Amino acid sequence: MEKMLSIAVDGPASSGKSTVSKKVAKDLGLIYIDTGAMYRTLTYEALKRKADIENEEELLRILEDLSIRFERNGSDQKVYANETEVTEVIRNADVTNSVSIVSAHPKIREVMVERQREMAQKQGVIMDGRDIGTVVLPKADVKIFLIASVEERAMRRFKENQSRGITTSLEDLTREIEERDYKDSNREVAPLKQASDAHLIDTTGLSIPEVVEKIKEIAFSK
Ligand code: C5P
Repeated sequence: MEKMLSIAVDGPASSGKSTVSKKVAKDLGLIYIDTGAMYRTLTYEALKRKADIENEEELLRILEDLSIRFERNGSDQKVYANETEVTEVIRNADVTNSVSIVSAHPKIREVMVERQREMAQKQGVIMDGRDIGTVVLPKADVKIFLIASVEERAMRRFKENQSRGITTSLEDLTREIEERDYKDSNREVAPLKQASDAHLIDTTGLSIPEVVEKIKEIAFSK
């Protein structure tokens, strides 16, 4: 069962998707695919080249020549844009605050979805994002929708930034998360939405191991 198991994890910003998905991947021997990192990498490249991120054609040309690759690094994962490692820089505030504009372009999504499906064909995967259970892997064996209160999500991001030596105000983080959720949930193509057959897990007040256990329980019941 484990070899070709597919798990789709969706949810709003900072709901804990990538942290728990990495752990489930390790425990169940699955490949972890962080689709948010793919949209972030394109956004990073576009900003670096001073492209107009409202211009879909310009972004498409950048994406055509951009290989986005993941490499396992112990229990973590590195992200590469062509041959350059971008794991950390794609988490910067300028990328975070522009990524929802980039990800709303329909043709960009088409290319990304195609690449994501290709990656999921070869091995068992756990893939996280916004549209995995609804669009990318509608036939996933297990679908999870993670939510948490906006206060808790802002606090998680605050601590994460602190650990990276970045000082941010909690108010700014709360506003950024709310704005990104709004854009991701209200775009025309593939908005953030719980699939009808997804299991809803509210992670507010739950520890990471508790959420990991819940997902594994659901996976084992399949
Ligand atoms: O998951 P993460 O917060 O890193 O995602 C960054 C952004 O990428 C999201 O805010 C969203 O705009 C976009 N995204 C998306 N579809 C996905 C994954 C991420 O539109 N499947």
